[in-house]
Amino acid sequence: MRSPRTWERLAATPAAELRRLQDATLARYVREELYPFSARYRRVFDAAGVEPRQVRSVDDLRRLPFTTKQDLLEAQANPETKRDFVLVPTPGAIRSHWPFLRKLALVVGGTRSREALRFAYTPNFLTFTTGRSSEPVAFAYTPHDLDVLGEGTARILDIAGSAPDERILNMMPFAPHLAFWAVTLGGFTTGRLVLPSGGGKVLGTHGNLRMIERMKVAWIVGTPGYVYHVLREARKEGTDLSSVVRVTLGAEKVPPGLKAKMIEHLQAGGAGQVTVSGTYGFTEARMAFGECPSSPDESPGYHVYPDLGIFEVIDPETGDPVGEGEDGELVYTGISGHGSVVCRYRTGDLAVGGVTWEPCPWCGRTTPRVSSELRRVSDRHALSLTKIKGTLVDLSHIGTVLSELAGVDEWQVVLRKEDDDPLGLDRLEVRFAARQGVEPASLIDTIKREILEATEVAPNEITPCSLEDLLKFLGMETEMKEKRFLDLRPQ
Ligand SMILES: [Zn+2]
Repeated sequence: MRSPRTWERLAATPAAELRRLQDATLARYVREELYPFSARYRRVFDAAGVEPRQVRSVDDLRRLPFTTKQDLLEAQANPETKRDFVLVPTPGAIRSHWPFLRKLALVVGGTRSREALRFAYTPNFLTFTTGRSSEPVAFAYTPHDLDVLGEGTARILDIAGSAPDERILNMMPFAPHLAFWAVTLGGFTTGRLVLPSGGGKVLGTHGNLRMIERMKVAWIVGTPGYVYHVLREARKEGTDLSSVVRVTLGAEKVPPGLKAKMIEHLQAGGAGQVTVSGTYGFTEARMAFGECPSSPDESPGYHVYPDLGIFEVIDPETGDPVGEGEDGELVYTGISGHGSVVCRYRTGDLAVGGVTWEPCPWCGRTTPRVSSELRRVSDRHALSLTKIKGTLVDLSHIGTVLSELAGVDEWQVVLRKEDDDPLGLDRLEVRFAARQGVEPASLIDTIKREILEATEVAPNEITPCSLEDLLKFLGMETEMKEKRFLDLRPQ
């Protein structure tokens, strides 16, 4: 059973004190968990000549090398190192590394204590990374980690200002990915009714709309693309949205213009005061973080948990730490987990404005916040970066441009080769459906100009489509996740 008081206290503790608590938690975690039980990090520490007791603060962590996605892929590909990132307690490691009192408790507790220990460290759940460019990487959770994940989501609910009797519709895709399970566990942990719809593929959009009406859903959670689709369909079907007070989006970046479009549909369906906020989470953290309510065009940033993990911000070129509030790549170290754990993991996410420890101007919480303006670091393996016509383009910029245009209802980007010739030139095509009452031809020039401005690449073709056709191209009702970017170029 969680203690909400712990979080309330943390969220009101001054930053200097929080940093001290974080350093102490890190030091203990390294000494008693990470070094003794992780085969991977024991080797990393030894190779760097760092003894676990020398890590007393976040600054000391900098003596250790980064962990990259490539490290995880390589470890997973080799049967001998497959479980390298998983904490495995052995009697010998406990004897050498645990403090006397902790060992004594284990001895005095006898069989029951040993069984509790086994339970808390044995994986019973997995999620996988997503991404087209590489094999999915498995991350193991133990019962302890499921408690931590539930606690993380409980904090998102608290930050959002949710009342305990709010019913939540979980439209995240039903899949072995973090988002669906984080939301579901949040309900288990806090005793809220979470309706697991699984998104469009499982229940269909009509099914989701019926659920909102019948169950008087207060809170809708899903991916930006699918939630927008559902809200538009609600307007078309005349669904009563008057019970909805909150929408939380995850798994993708949320452009402010899209928030405003969602609020318009919600209010047309009878919703009153409604907030739309974003979340940030990733498989390697096995956790997500949320924004507190703010106006749609301003973001307070993602509120993170200094007792459960550490965010460093580095210069992606040199690896050196940058100052507070400066742009840089986010690097994550878990300090609370069992199962698969990473230390100094390079997320590949560049936070514009980095991390701040200033109290939040919207809610007053003192815990640190990660800027919600995130971009991919120029890593050629990253999912969203691709070379089009010789220019490196972040596809998410094109996505932001199209989602923000008030006249555009739905869109899809198609990349292909001229005449389907593998050696031919790249072609960038945009398909879009205009919103009701907007003349499609009037949008073509704007789309062309805005994409050129954002990416320095001009689309070769911009095609207006009917909404019905475009929803089919996207696979909105049939795919786990809609196909926003279709890369038809031979690999
Ligand atoms: Zn806040």
